[in-house]
Amino acid sequence: METLESALSLLLSHTKPIGRVEEVTLLDALGRVAAKDILSPMNVPPFDRSPLDGYAQRSADIAGASRENPRTLRVVGEVCAGSGEVFFPGAGEAVRVMTGAQIPDGCDCVIRQEDTDEGMEQVQIYAELSHRQNICFCGEDVQAGSLIVRAGERLTSAHIGVLASLGVTRVSVYGRVRAALLCTGDELVQPGSPLTRGKIYDSNHAALCARLAEMGVEVRALESERDEPEHVAGALCQAAKDADILLTTGGVSVGKKDIFHQVLPLMGAKRLFWKVALKPGSPLLCALYGDKLVICLSGNPFAALCCFELFAKPVIACLAGDRGVVNPRVHAKLSGGFPKKSPGRRLIRAFFDGERVRLTGENHSSGSLFTMIGCNCLIDIPAGSGALSDGDDVEILLL
Ligand code: AMP
Ligand code: MG
Repeated sequence: METLESALSLLLSHTKPIGRVEEVTLLDALGRVAAKDILSPMNVPPFDRSPLDGYAQRSADIAGASRENPRTLRVVGEVCAGSGEVFFPGAGEAVRVMTGAQIPDGCDCVIRQEDTDEGMEQVQIYAELSHRQNICFCGEDVQAGSLIVRAGERLTSAHIGVLASLGVTRVSVYGRVRAALLCTGDELVQPGSPLTRGKIYDSNHAALCARLAEMGVEVRALESERDEPEHVAGALCQAAKDADILLTTGGVSVGKKDIFHQVLPLMGAKRLFWKVALKPGSPLLCALYGDKLVICLSGNPFAALCCFELFAKPVIACLAGDRGVVNPRVHAKLSGGFPKKSPGRRLIRAFFDGERVRLTGENHSSGSLFTMIGCNCLIDIPAGSGALSDGDDVEILLL
């Protein structure tokens, strides 16, 4: 049987980035993975500018100035942010400048207006400044030619802002990963239709569609299928034509209706492994259909979502060309406890507040979905552990 780690590396060894590249507008690039390094085409700010309201002048002209011993300069003009007026002040002259104004040629410092008499024709300066004091220099935020985005980085609102400051309007990004999702089970009814005896609402479909959408994946959500192997195999083969990965839920255990042991051979898919030493989701079944991975998750809602995070998420990140996805592991102290023994390795849902970790509720069975709400990490309990007590050190996997 595979371990979490061996199963994941097996899946990743069969995964390579899809590599489709497209050019999108700057705002459409949010959340996408950059396909190329982006170097800055310019300096930001593009000119030396004033960080405050005051007067620009030569520092040599105000050496030794103080309230008791002010220097008087002739004011030859005024520049506001963006006003674009040009002045060439000489020795003994100053230009009134507002925040954001381009520094006039010949000036090498800006005195804040609070340290002057705020004069209009001439100004009294009450303090001295050093060469280049109180100036935001051309390129001090971003230098022309510097690396702004690395290929494989997922673009955040901060990247978008910086790229806008460089005048960039279009970005090369990798195409979205296309995932086909098919949930199976005779008992499934879609929300909106009445439940009859023995039926339940299909929550995996919605939960996984939502999760995939959060990850920026293009979801081809197939209609959920009954436990009929030929139908399911046919639907998956059809969906594979324009999907990069196939995801299913239900039917992977050992029961009479665990149809995927038939579905995969019917598709002509090659099984990679069945079962991982892990609770929940131990019957995870994975296969290759051509060069596409088929990840068959258990139908139990927590098992499906948990194994999605552990296995499908890193695979999808790799397909997307995204180099930044890992589930970081940290140690934390447990608040409260967990009464069950863990003969095998077990993952339970929890909330980590940056210091301590606590369970998100009482019911941690793999069929329970409710305690997924508020879950931002999984506690990774090693095989052979006893009950957990308040204050125990536990290893958690941040989601
Ligand atoms: P299975 O993996 O098909 O053996 O299903 C395991 C458990 O998960 C059963 O109790 C199913 O009724 C339930 N289940 C299967 N698929 C879904 C689904 N799409 N939504 C909610 N529960 C499901
Ligand atoms: Mg089933």
